[in-house]
Parts: sequence; structure tokens; C-alpha cells
Amino acid sequence: MSINELLESIYQQAALQLGRGEVAQYIPALAEVDANQFGITICDIQGNVHSVGDAQTPFSIQSISKVYSLTLAMQNLGNKVWQRVGMEPSGLPFNSLIQLEQEQGLPRNPFINAGALVVADMIESSYATPSLAIKNFVRTLAANPEIQIDSKVAQSEYDHRARNAAAAYLMKSFGNFNNEVEDVLMNYFSTCAIKMSCVDLAKSFSYLANKGQCVFSNKRILPEQQARQINALMATSGLYDEAGKFAFEVGFPGKSGVGGGIIAIVPGVLSICVWSPALNKTGNSYVGIEALKLLSSHIDWSVY
Ligand code: GLU
Repeated sequence: MSINELLESIYQQAALQLGRGEVAQYIPALAEVDANQFGITICDIQGNVHSVGDAQTPFSIQSISKVYSLTLAMQNLGNKVWQRVGMEPSGLPFNSLIQLEQEQGLPRNPFINAGALVVADMIESSYATPSLAIKNFVRTLAANPEIQIDSKVAQSEYDHRARNAAAAYLMKSFGNFNNEVEDVLMNYFSTCAIKMSCVDLAKSFSYLANKGQCVFSNKRILPEQQARQINALMATSGLYDEAGKFAFEVGFPGKSGVGGGIIAIVPGVLSICVWSPALNKTGNSYVGIEALKLLSSHIDWSVY
């Protein structure tokens, strides 16, 4: 079976689940998205790109952006990043505040919201226009100068920022936040509101499949060891409190977002993006998870 035939058959099987799950409601501008969209793109480290379904439709990348921000922070600060954020799974919902108080404002990992906000604070200190720096970075990675920030989604998130603001102010009270909270929040939301398609996302993550080097620009994005560290964090903390189940059932490092996208990496082989906006109870794309389960069972690749 060719890769395109495989993708088509996975698409047909997973699409039977369309209609299950619910589009994220807590960000009003995201709640308007048509739930029945579904796309898949696979990009191998030779640069071959294969897609099926709505793979060219841009959507809100949301928490997938946390990987780009972490990558830039690691480029700028190296190991110093880990003085302000941990590397352990939290086992709690992405926006939980419970551990943050108990652990004196040191977030468990960079992929829960508190951790991503500390990373956004690091980015804020490194760039004059942080959200533009990240947008330009992803444009280069995806080899697509058309990628944009959806300012309506960013504003909608800012208008409903209470919980993220609470996390940021709590960290500030513990001395783990250097910049103005409201500025960092706006840049964090703008980064989450970047719109990319499955094709853009799968291409932009080629560096994590390719030992830290971008397949499309040939640029070294991170040293090999740091790319491996990001994959490890994605494997342990990339899918909210469903990371263990995802490792068990799918077996790839992955990162999801409440826009319904999931990026997954088969190190040394390829990057995959699946997207369908309706989410399961843990906030991961319902159909996207089904598609990745089918894909991993067919191709028999697992990092484990
Ligand atoms: N911008 C979202 C938030 O902070 C990201 C959530 C996500 O995709 O997990 O609530």
C-alpha cells in the first residue's frame, strides 16, 4: 500500500467518528469553528509531504505554539530555562493552579499553561516584539511567509484571561515572572492564535524529527540533544493529562492544542499533523487521536 493509500484509508476510518466530541467553548472565537473538518499531513525527513482531507485549511494552533516558544527560549537561554520551569508531567488539567501554589510558583513543565507563561515571560525579555518573533520563526520553519496571527481569537482569549492571569500573577508573587503580566498575556495569546494548516505544522516540526535541523531551510534550529529533550517532554507532557494514555496507545511524542490540532513526531523518520476541531473530555482532538492510533498501528513505528 502506498503512503497516500494508507492515509486515505486511515482518513476514511477515523472520519466515521466525526460528530463526537465538542469544540472548545471557553474561547468564544474558537467555539464558532465548524466541527466537521478533518485533515492529516505527514512530512518525512527527506521533505516529502503527503496530505488528505482539510490539510490546507489554517486553524488556531493554540497550545502547539508552546513548543515553538520553548524552542526559542532554549535557543536564547540554553539550560537556564530549567531554573524557572520543571520537566515533570503534572497529571492535572492544563490550566490547573493547585500545584503552582504548593510548589512555590515553579510550574511542572513548559506545556501546562503556567509553564508556557513563564516561557512567554522569557521570550518577552529577549525580543522587542515577541509575538512577531515567533510568527517569523514559524514562517521560516514552515517555509510559508503567509502564516498569520488571528487577532480576533487573540483578543477573545485576552477578554477571557482570568485563569491564565491568575497563574501569571501567582508566579509573580513567588518571584518567577519578570515582565508586566498583561503584556506577556497578550503576547502569549497572540502566539496561541497563530493560524496554520496541517501542511504548515507538519513541515514546521521537521526539525524535531530530524535531530534539530529544519528539513526545509536546512538551518540547525537546536543541537541534537535539545531536540531530543523536547521530544521527551512532548512524550511525557504533550497531551495534557492524557499523555500516558497517548504514549500507551500511540507511542509517539506529541503536542495538542484546543484548536483540535495534534502534532506527533517519529524521531528520525517523520512529523505528522492531524486536525479536527471537536475535542474529547481531556481537551484533545477526538478524531485526531483516532487517526494517530490507526496510523501507529498500521506503520508499526513507536519510540518504545
Ligand atoms: N490559549 C489557550 C489557553 O491558554 C491554550 C490552551 C491549549 O491549547 O491547551 O487557554
